[in-house]
Amino acid sequence: MKASNRTQPLYRFGSGPGVTSWPSKLVILGATGSIGAQTVDLVLGDPARLHVEALTTWSRIDDLVAQVLQLEAAGCASSPWIAVGDAEAHRRAREHPLLGRRLLPAGAEGVREAAGLDSVDCVVNGLVGAAGLEPTLVAATRGRRIALANKEALVMGGSLVHAVAMAHEARIIPVDSEHSALAQCLSGRTPEELETLILTASGGPFRTWSADRMAAASRAEVLAHPTWAMGPKITVDSATLMNKGLEVIEAHVLFGVAYEDIDVVVHPGSIVHSLAQFRDGSLMAQLGAPDMRVPLLYAIAGERHEPLGTERIDLARLGELTFEAPDPVRFPCLRLAREAGLAGGVMPIVLNAANEIAVAAFLDDRIGYTNIHETIAATLDRLEQAPVTDLNHALAVDAWARKEAAALIAVGMRRA
Ligand code: NAD
Ligand code: MG
Repeated sequence: MKASNRTQPLYRFGSGPGVTSWPSKLVILGATGSIGAQTVDLVLGDPARLHVEALTTWSRIDDLVAQVLQLEAAGCASSPWIAVGDAEAHRRAREHPLLGRRLLPAGAEGVREAAGLDSVDCVVNGLVGAAGLEPTLVAATRGRRIALANKEALVMGGSLVHAVAMAHEARIIPVDSEHSALAQCLSGRTPEELETLILTASGGPFRTWSADRMAAASRAEVLAHPTWAMGPKITVDSATLMNKGLEVIEAHVLFGVAYEDIDVVVHPGSIVHSLAQFRDGSLMAQLGAPDMRVPLLYAIAGERHEPLGTERIDLARLGELTFEAPDPVRFPCLRLAREAGLAGGVMPIVLNAANEIAVAAFLDDRIGYTNIHETIAATLDRLEQAPVTDLNHALAVDAWARKEAAALIAVGMRRA
């Protein structure tokens, strides 16, 4: 890798495992989602070592009540702080004997307050979409260890998160399985030793489908992911391969590797979670069953491998691992993301916002599958490249791109 192509990595190379003080005090942002619920499971599985100080949800307060009851019964929470985003759900939470005890303000403010609480060891960010950026910045300003699942924060605010994390010595540890794999491969290494990153992709449900069949794909077919059970937005992103596109940008921000040195390979088994290639041609990979609790616990524990009862891989029974190149024609989102990443500045913000709007419209049955990439491409075409100056600028570009994408959908991209 040419040194000139490098940017400063957000991930701290060579820092190795940190010293984790137990019990580790956690804030779980997006506790009722797929990542959040798996974090709660980890806490319940190790109640002596993990303690929850705060939990947030957008509107699922019944699920949150169940989580608080379980955590308190196991002795791993005691009147935790609660944030509920949606105004109506927040009103109901205020009346609730468990949630009303220590309730933070409604909307984005409560989530930000949860992210910035005192006496916390680790903030787990399991929020989905652009809503994850500001809480990440708040936690970074407090110098926290951040177990970051919310890739959108790095896609839209990579340079902002970078600046704040460096200034306040926050340690950002990726939870995305590919980036956790890379962090594990890079533990104890220096940026100079690294040549390329190879992100693996399951290929999603449409890996073997023809373009015509994909164009008519239903919501249910898009949501039928072959190897991972996840929230709806990332599941759609996995079908279009936008998820891998966002992950290429995430890898660039985290590890400072140039875009031309970040490859994607389809690996349908989801056993090899990604690979780092070093300057002598050595490849390091991290393998394991597809189970998000592994990267979650690795991040929460400050990059240590802690005991966990996951499925162990029997290599002889598995027999083989297969790899293939992604098809750039059937999966244009991968190209769009790479181009937006390379252009830099405001473009990844536009990409991410247009994608969120298009995915929501698809999930609502307002547009068809191919309209997703058409909406994103058309929105990207409408803005000139410019550097991101600050958070307000990033949020303004995000809001602009959402409006543009929604307008495009309203005028013509109705489901055929
Ligand atoms: P999810 O939809 O299951 O959960 C999202 C959580 O965020 C929920 O608790 C929801 O209440 C909350 N939320 C949603 N919108 C919000 C808003 N505007 N303000 C505040 N809170 C809000 O999503 P998920 O699958 O858990 O994914 C979370 C993040 O982790 C995403 O960025 C995703 O790309 C990433 N990720 C997930 C997985 C996985 O296995 N689920 C794997 C890798 C990366
Ligand atoms: Mg991933």
